[in-house]
Amino acid sequence: MKVTSDLQGGKLEEDFRFRSLLFLALSMGAITGFLEGIGFYGGQAGRWAGHGFFESTAQPAILYLSPLVALLVSGGVALALQLGFLAFGVAKLTRARLLFGVLCFIAFFDWLWLTRSFATYGAVILALGLACAAERWFRRHWRRALEVAPKLFAASVAYICVAALAINYFAWRQENSARAALPTAAAGAPNIVLVILDTVRADHLSAYGYERKTTPYLETLAAEGTAFDNAVAPSSWTFPSHVSILTGRYPREHGAVLNGFDGRYATVASAFERLGYITGGFSGNMDWFSSARGMTGGFQHFEDGFWSVGAMFAETGYGQLVNQWLGWATNNRIVLGYKRARDVNRTALRWLDAAPKRPFFLVLNYYDANAGGAVPEPGFRNLFSSVPLPPPARGDTEFSPAHIDKPRSNEYDGALVYMDNCVRELVEALRQRGLADNLTVVVTADHGDLFGEHGLQGHRNALYWDLLHVPLIFWGSPGLPRGLRVERPVSLVSLPATLLETAGQNRAGQFPAPSLAQFWKAGGDLPAWPLPISELAQMPYPGLEKMPNYSGSLSAIVTPRWLLIDHSVNGPTLYDWTVDPENLHDLSSTADGESLSGTLMGCLKVRNVELRGASCPTEVSREPNSAAAAESFRPIGDQ
Ligand SMILES: [Zn+2]
Repeated sequence: MKVTSDLQGGKLEEDFRFRSLLFLALSMGAITGFLEGIGFYGGQAGRWAGHGFFESTAQPAILYLSPLVALLVSGGVALALQLGFLAFGVAKLTRARLLFGVLCFIAFFDWLWLTRSFATYGAVILALGLACAAERWFRRHWRRALEVAPKLFAASVAYICVAALAINYFAWRQENSARAALPTAAAGAPNIVLVILDTVRADHLSAYGYERKTTPYLETLAAEGTAFDNAVAPSSWTFPSHVSILTGRYPREHGAVLNGFDGRYATVASAFERLGYITGGFSGNMDWFSSARGMTGGFQHFEDGFWSVGAMFAETGYGQLVNQWLGWATNNRIVLGYKRARDVNRTALRWLDAAPKRPFFLVLNYYDANAGGAVPEPGFRNLFSSVPLPPPARGDTEFSPAHIDKPRSNEYDGALVYMDNCVRELVEALRQRGLADNLTVVVTADHGDLFGEHGLQGHRNALYWDLLHVPLIFWGSPGLPRGLRVERPVSLVSLPATLLETAGQNRAGQFPAPSLAQFWKAGGDLPAWPLPISELAQMPYPGLEKMPNYSGSLSAIVTPRWLLIDHSVNGPTLYDWTVDPENLHDLSSTADGESLSGTLMGCLKVRNVELRGASCPTEVSREPNSAAAAESFRPIGDQ
């Protein structure tokens, strides 16, 4: 063969020095990563549109991180192969061909796997075939490839540096110009911190009567402040619920029900900006409370992914592969880039320490109770279990009300103790900085969770009380009564107006839902209050077949006694949540229940009218506590 005879020449010996092969590897890695970054970031909108629902996000930094990581990985592969070649005395042209083939396989597998259109073994087989074809091309063009490699490597390094500088400079400039435009804040404006405990159902908190001492610090905050005993989440999963908390609107109105928020409504952070506050968002739930989903409105600084070297690696294709393998190998005990509540605190405090001295509005999301990232800090994991826990249940495990996933529930309770500690650490850290004297802390959750109730695990699947009933505790607001407990069900859509009123600035109409401060001004209850509603979009996606929202969308409405859940296909179910919080007894087909369901369906429809823009005065008086008195249920203004 010609190439074999060519190898006998000294010039060709030079061509196959390791340095040449390394340049080949590094430049091929950079190209792999460059296309991967484009695929991640550029293809995001298309993937969301095409799949309807997509679980991972990408940020601009991926455009330089993917090439950088892929370049380093390919360099490592080249080194490892070279050692193997030397050990086995492989001929030089064969070395180049093998290296080229392996790098092509890595590149093709990476691209195919990231499309999420192939099973892993399918991607492997296809990538092998493509790599063999590419290697045949290399046999003919190896000389040209080796010549071009150093130039490609230089161009890749230049690209990575310029992209990293430009993307980070742009973010820095944006934050600084937003700060420079801030008006002067009012003298004595309070600092406000909103902590959103992701996936925390109220009935597992000792601050809400749970028998285990899961949240001693929240008990202290509730005793010194005001707690709402029956706060209702606007949805049963992170994304719509967070947008509702920030905009004061229900999901069908703000439209953020599957993949991205279009920013059609201003957030409470924007309102604080207009009051001269510095505003920061710090998220542990990096896929859903994230900049890529459009959550940054009004936040001068928003930190989700890219907070550590491990997190940066985890965002790239290779990082995702490694994380998938680690999750499989360690039962989700080790997750690269996972951001614990303590990390969220640390990033928030680091930012605050470097920020100008102004009143601040911070939103922190703690993610440690969420099954999706179930890696609570090791010391807390086994707090409520004397025996080592079995691996966490995965995927399709069948559960029933009689078979609650106790190990998961035990681990969850341990995570709650951890998060409670982190709220304490945050407030203490602010106190040490002299920032606690004029500080309001609000602690809530975006939705609850299920451990097998109704045969379901997790959330984003239904609208049962366990998924909707969340904690809501105010501490430190001016005029806040100590130890007040408000029983009336209230929605988290009232948070923006309430937070602004805490800052003394709730202008009527800025946010549609009323301020909860009315409750503590009135001593705990009011004659009438809008009924909280909750909504969950239909998700007809593979793998979700067992979920109630697979076959239709859900909406729910909560009165001081009843929970009506309407399934767009199957119709309504009705529960007396005060005596049946597990929602085991559907009363919608009883004589009283039927008429009550009809009335509540009407209330939901009125809410729907409001969601299209008309006003909704629907309020319901407190019903007498008797099933026979259901007729006295009286919607006001339901015309
Ligand atoms: Zn959540």
